[in-house]
Amino acid sequence: MTQTDTSLNRLEQTAIDSVPAGLYIGGEWRETATTMPVLDPATGQVLCRVADAGPADGLAALAAAADAQRDWARTSPRERGDILMRAHRALLEDVDRLALIATLEMGKPLAEARGEIAYAAEFFRWFAEEAVRLDGGYMPAPGGNSRFLVARQPVGPSLLITPWNFPMAMATRKIGPALAAGCTCVVKPAEQTPLCTLALARILHESGVPAGVVNVVTTSDPGALMTPMILDERSRKLSFTGSTAVGKKLLEQCARTVMRTSMELGGNAPFIVFDDADLDAAIEGALAAKMRNIGQACTAANRIFVQRAVIDEFARRLAERMAALPMGRGTEADVVVGPLIDGDAVAKVTELVADARERGARVLTGGESVDGPGNFYPATVLVDVPDSARMCHTEIFGPVAALTPFDTEDEVVTRANDTPYGLVGYVYTEGLRRGLRVCEALESGMVGLNQGVVSNPAAPFGGVKESGLGREGGLVGIDEFLELKYIGVAL
Ligand code: NAP
Repeated sequence: MTQTDTSLNRLEQTAIDSVPAGLYIGGEWRETATTMPVLDPATGQVLCRVADAGPADGLAALAAAADAQRDWARTSPRERGDILMRAHRALLEDVDRLALIATLEMGKPLAEARGEIAYAAEFFRWFAEEAVRLDGGYMPAPGGNSRFLVARQPVGPSLLITPWNFPMAMATRKIGPALAAGCTCVVKPAEQTPLCTLALARILHESGVPAGVVNVVTTSDPGALMTPMILDERSRKLSFTGSTAVGKKLLEQCARTVMRTSMELGGNAPFIVFDDADLDAAIEGALAAKMRNIGQACTAANRIFVQRAVIDEFARRLAERMAALPMGRGTEADVVVGPLIDGDAVAKVTELVADARERGARVLTGGESVDGPGNFYPATVLVDVPDSARMCHTEIFGPVAALTPFDTEDEVVTRANDTPYGLVGYVYTEGLRRGLRVCEALESGMVGLNQGVVSNPAAPFGGVKESGLGREGGLVGIDEFLELKYIGVAL
């Protein structure tokens, strides 16, 4: 691991200083009586402090969104799309600063942060293009005496809650379709990574988003802030990305007002390698599916099943590649293994590895936590991880590849589906028929067939079972923010 200098250099300080620190409500920046720190996970150092909103601030943001709703819904789809396109270009033009902010607050390597900003910007382009395609229907009633018109209308003021792991992309993946559909919104980023969303708010403001259409509230007490907003009848929609545990709580709250919800929750992705797979491609795919975001992705390959004939070679080659990945602060050149988000994340990974070892797993590389400063855990490969290991039933959320052998297709499908989660799976085989059979049999919202990354703004992202409700992106993403209205017309 490279030595970490805990002070910010001038470029880093300038990037942090460029981010507004207040709440963005009704087109203006507001200060709060108290503030909360934002930490650099690579050093533990306080990067800056931002506003710490309470319930009254949240209700003020909701009031601003509700007040702006009618006018925004009446804005022409082309104008809404044009604003999103301006924001798309602004994000790309500002990629260096924004990527540095993402790396500093979240820890991911700079190259990955740049990729996230481009991915985030693409949601705005995609939904700018969708804004002008809000079609409807016209059909004769079966009896012939009337006509059915079907219109799609904005659902109304929307609450958008995002996690820390993709602080820019999870925000644009919600704000893009909300705005394109004609919905105003209140965005609540994660406490650990508020800076990307605050920087985004300023970009949206400068791109011409009218006052009140997007509001941003940051807080250290999400339950106290969000509960009154969720229970307020002016809120018409909750779009949440985060853990299944918090998602379930929020679903209960939303039931009280029968509020529309979209839930992008946790995963436990199986990554399946058959013995006829292109092993070079499978290893590249495993590295991508495991190491993206230092393993802290809902789509991370959590359980890696490798057919018995090839597991030794696969494990050896994957371990060689993982052992060679440079670890350090995300701002340093070539670093791939940045810090985990906090000390709890390191403790969780450490415990999961210890548990797997006690149950018979062998360590091929890594497996020992490293001294601070920063929340580092090395890239780790374990083999012979039994299905009983705790890491097979919970998100590892760290750079640990858990390998286990399998013998038959039926066996691996049964084991892969043996989880309450169902976000994504990965299958490597050169056999087309087998590939399609297994893709169809996996209980997940998405499958990568011979590819280790599935995220794409033009594709419907989402899970089944306890991984969520609804889809983000793709042709259906905008539907999450639209209601159908049927108008019966007498002839
Ligand atoms: P989390 O703890 O569930 O938090 C997610 C968001 O919910 C944060 O903004 C958090 O605020 C907020 N929150 C927590 N308690 C709340 C409450 N009582 N009321 C309202 N909001 C509340 O998840 P995380 O640790 O940030 O993110 C990691 C999880 O997200 C993983 O499970 C991962 O799989 C999942 N994820 C899923 C997807 C997907 O598309 N399916 C994508 C990315 C991540 P605070 O930060 O202040 O706690």
